[in-house]
Amino acid sequence: MDNYPDTAAAPLPETDLTEAEVAPQLLPLAELHLHIEGTLQPELIFELAERNGLALPYSGLEELRALYEFSDLQSFLNLYYANMAVLQTEQDFADMTRAYLARAAAAGVRHAEIMMDPQAHISRGVSLETCVNGVASALATSVEDFGISTLLIAAFLRDLSEESALEVLDGLLAMKAPIAAIGLDSAEVGNPPAKFERLFAKAREAGLRLTAHAGEEGPPSYIIEALDVLGVERIDHGIRCMEDPDLVERLVDERIPLTVCPLSNVRLRTVDTLADHPLPAMLAAGLNVSVNSDDPAYFGGYVDDNFAQLQAVFELSDFDRSRLAANSIHSSFASEERKAELLDELNGG
Ligand SMILES: [Zn+2]
Repeated sequence: MDNYPDTAAAPLPETDLTEAEVAPQLLPLAELHLHIEGTLQPELIFELAERNGLALPYSGLEELRALYEFSDLQSFLNLYYANMAVLQTEQDFADMTRAYLARAAAAGVRHAEIMMDPQAHISRGVSLETCVNGVASALATSVEDFGISTLLIAAFLRDLSEESALEVLDGLLAMKAPIAAIGLDSAEVGNPPAKFERLFAKAREAGLRLTAHAGEEGPPSYIIEALDVLGVERIDHGIRCMEDPDLVERLVDERIPLTVCPLSNVRLRTVDTLADHPLPAMLAAGLNVSVNSDDPAYFGGYVDDNFAQLQAVFELSDFDRSRLAANSIHSSFASEERKAELLDELNGG
């Protein structure tokens, strides 16, 4: 833990490195906020539709690609759920997962904690076993195949009822699904964390790690509720903490990880432009932030694209880039041994 960069250092150091000098160097890091359903690229959608004999409502790749330039949250969600229809068999889920792992490896990802939404598949008639076993089969060989250690997180749709989530969690536990943690995602506003108090208590009792989306579109109070009522160890997004100085102080003191997704925030209009993103201010405040891609097929890029665009807008220093990578490793649910290996790699060991 001693080679952890000093997050209390502020303000950001100046840098005179040009983008071209910095861009080629990919830091080994952990991706902690990634929805596997959000990695479905248009090419794979067509491939899976053909394999499963499904007719797509698009004339071709160009028409589908154009829809990825959505105008608001609803147009994203409509496309996101419509595209999932091509995921029918274990092989489909495995192929989608392998495609992500191959791309993530090229982005410098060495450890990935992958969320999937079982309820989004069960609701359209795909069994829990099919979706879990399909993703898990690709994760089982991720180290050999891609050099990436992986963990699976079962995420629950917060706009559905807690009863629905409890039923799915029971199913996951009954089938001894290889999940390390649970998460909470989808439409945040109006669905506060406290709605899922029993779900998180049950997952904790089962020995699972806990994370939840909070403070993306929802208010800072949702972050406090996720910590105090659900007992989460990590907050996904959390950018709206910046509106509450007392909360920022607490998050810094308790070193609570915030898995920030800059390009996602721009695409879903949580911030107007990348230049308005609070990431530099969060770093300067000493918050434990990491950079993640969320739904990379839909939000304009993988984790390396996020870093490249941050670099172009903010000219992050080498120190800050290393700090973001180190934060991602420290904040993961990986074993202490795996974290030490990754930190060694980051430190050039
Ligand atoms: Zn997310």
